[in-house]
Amino acid sequence: MGASDGGASTAVIPYVVAGPSGVGKGTVIRDLLARAPQCWLSVSATTRQPRPGEREGIDYHFVSDAEFDRLIDSGEMLEWAIVHGRNRYGTPRQPVVDMLARGRIPILEVDLDGARQIRRSWPDVEQIFVDAPSWEELVHRLRGRGTEDAAEQERRLETARVERAARDEFDHVVINDSVSGATDQLLRIMGLGQ
Ligand code: ADP
Ligand code: 5GP
Repeated sequence: MGASDGGASTAVIPYVVAGPSGVGKGTVIRDLLARAPQCWLSVSATTRQPRPGEREGIDYHFVSDAEFDRLIDSGEMLEWAIVHGRNRYGTPRQPVVDMLARGRIPILEVDLDGARQIRRSWPDVEQIFVDAPSWEELVHRLRGRGTEDAAEQERRLETARVERAARDEFDHVVINDSVSGATDQLLRIMGLGQ
């Protein structure tokens, strides 16, 4: 039974949250964590450089290529992928297992490739795709965030086309029109909403 059936279930399972860059995943997940402290956001490892203000161990584990290789080789990654054709990102396995054992609900923010890997290796995980109300709005949000240069924005929009074309693979699609409305939908899917 899916956690969204009837809204009454509060099964402790992980949730994948995927969707195009700039759609608002980070913003909505922050709102979700504030409203549902039983949820826990997995901290990914990445080979990308930190943006100004990003903190080691909170936003990401920022690691070297050699350290990322070691994490893969030692089997410590639940999944990993090269995202936007450039940097590697992955989910450390053990913290997810530990949080589940403590009754917390892990949220795994991953790209399409990572979502597909988890679907194969751990089919119980519910998969949620966050989309924008329109393509124009997605472009507006990604450009408006201003954290990437124009070339990187274009790369991310290319990935976004591929990701949006795959959204029907997901168990649930949430349109991030308003942040609070999108969070309401996530809470309902998790059986935590009214
Ligand atoms: P992602 O994590 O998916 O890359 P962000 O959370 O960084 O996206 O959001 C991208 C930009 O869109 C940010 O500037 C954020 O403030 C804005 N944003 C997020 N959700 C909404 C929304 N519902 N309406 C308008 N702007 C939004
Ligand atoms: P950013 O560089 O904007 O922080 O993240 C870019 C994208 O990387 C995110 O939108 C998300 O799709 C993807 N990502 C972040 N963490 C992970 C992870 O642990 N695994 C995978 N496969 N993708 C991730």
